[in-house]
Amino acid sequence: MLTIYNTLSRRKEVFRPLVEGHVGMYVCGPTVYGDAHLGHARPAVTFDTLFRYLRHLGYKVRYVRNITDVGHLEHDADEGEDKIAKKARLEQLEPMEVAQYYTNRFHDAMAALGCLPPSIEPHASGHIIEQIALVQQILDAGYAYVSNGSVYFDVEKYSRDHHYGKLSGRNLDDVINASRELDGVGEKRNQVDFALWKKAQPEHIMRWPSPWSDGFPGWHCECTAMGRKYLGEHFDIHGGGMDLVFPHHECEIAQAVASQGDEAVRYWMHNNMVTIGGQKMGKSLGNFITLSQFFSGQHPMLTQAFSPMTIRFFILQAHYRSTLDFSNDALIASGKGLERLFEAMKQLERIDVVADAQITEQYAQDLSDKCREAMDDDLNTPIVISHLFDACRLINQLADRKASISPAGLEALAATMKTIVGDILGLRSEAEQGNAEREKSFAGAVDLLLDVRAQAKAAKDWATSDRIRDSLAALGFQIKDTKEGATWKL
Ligand code: ZN
Repeated sequence: MLTIYNTLSRRKEVFRPLVEGHVGMYVCGPTVYGDAHLGHARPAVTFDTLFRYLRHLGYKVRYVRNITDVGHLEHDADEGEDKIAKKARLEQLEPMEVAQYYTNRFHDAMAALGCLPPSIEPHASGHIIEQIALVQQILDAGYAYVSNGSVYFDVEKYSRDHHYGKLSGRNLDDVINASRELDGVGEKRNQVDFALWKKAQPEHIMRWPSPWSDGFPGWHCECTAMGRKYLGEHFDIHGGGMDLVFPHHECEIAQAVASQGDEAVRYWMHNNMVTIGGQKMGKSLGNFITLSQFFSGQHPMLTQAFSPMTIRFFILQAHYRSTLDFSNDALIASGKGLERLFEAMKQLERIDVVADAQITEQYAQDLSDKCREAMDDDLNTPIVISHLFDACRLINQLADRKASISPAGLEALAATMKTIVGDILGLRSEAEQGNAEREKSFAGAVDLLLDVRAQAKAAKDWATSDRIRDSLAALGFQIKDTKEGATWKL
């Protein structure tokens, strides 16, 4: 039975989905105004692993991860310029050009890390109507007020009826003491109130009409509105980095309760933070390394390039609720570990089997059970990896003929390793990745030849067109001409 740590109850709970066989899962996605970094990689890998494991357990999972392309202000609060609009202003681009550019870069980085795409990836800017409806519901319920064209959530009023701070373990006084006098305080009844809708200043480019003003939604609205739209009023899992617990997820709970009368989310899951060389990552600290810098090795803190799979493996070597410290040396060690794992898996292809062997299918069964037990324990991936390394030691003994394995035992071991390493942990060998890239280039080259042939045919240059067809046929290609163009197979 899968157990997961619920941030809300502060304990591990047995996972029971609301609808048998189905899981609805929402994870807060990136604000697309800069290159993806480790702070993006960790939640992406963590929740990708959960997504993979839930599917492995047989659940049908709807995984929603949003793209924040509006409303995330510079200080995560109700002040400052929109992060994307600021970048657009500095680079003289349309805000949506900035958002699209970094969304594409984010997708590339996630694919490199072996993260499966989510089932739905909604954009905040595409769901303004849903967010306006949410704000209106909260106003109608009496937990918000309009002030000078902006709408604020009335935290104090909400606190009289419900527990504001239940997720982060804060009480209202803590929140009041911690909150600074900020922008918009003149409009707010209380400094802890947060914006549901902001009236746009004249210079603000990203704006939409609403019943209250031309403006834009508060950052916390999008996840509540889009989670509800795609997963329903109640759904199973909401995840993100621990830094989102307060205020973002706390505000999401308040918005859900205020608008629909009860909470939307059953299990709240949060991955811990990433440090670099023991320090918090920050642009001013000079230790801010983007994923593409890791992949290329081009950063003063790195002595070499680190493959995306090394980054993924390193993330999985720690439990997602522990802090994770990145350093050049730790990554080098991880890369060696990963190499050892794939070398052992390769050895499996060359091992001799004997009928009457010490090792049978039971070994693979035990390995599979132990790994599943670790995954069931709140996704304990470091324990899974330690079981895999035990298996690697056995594989090396088999290769050195210091132990023997039966034919069925070997087949089961290879299948189990493939399932755990590839399907559940999402790791693939760099060599395989190289093959995939070569195959892509190969297919591209053949398509190009067929394009040239089509042009030749159009120009009635039959000699060239026949030559390409005959040469490809001689190399073993079957070319088929269809109305949509030529297709090929080898
Ligand atoms: Zn969110």
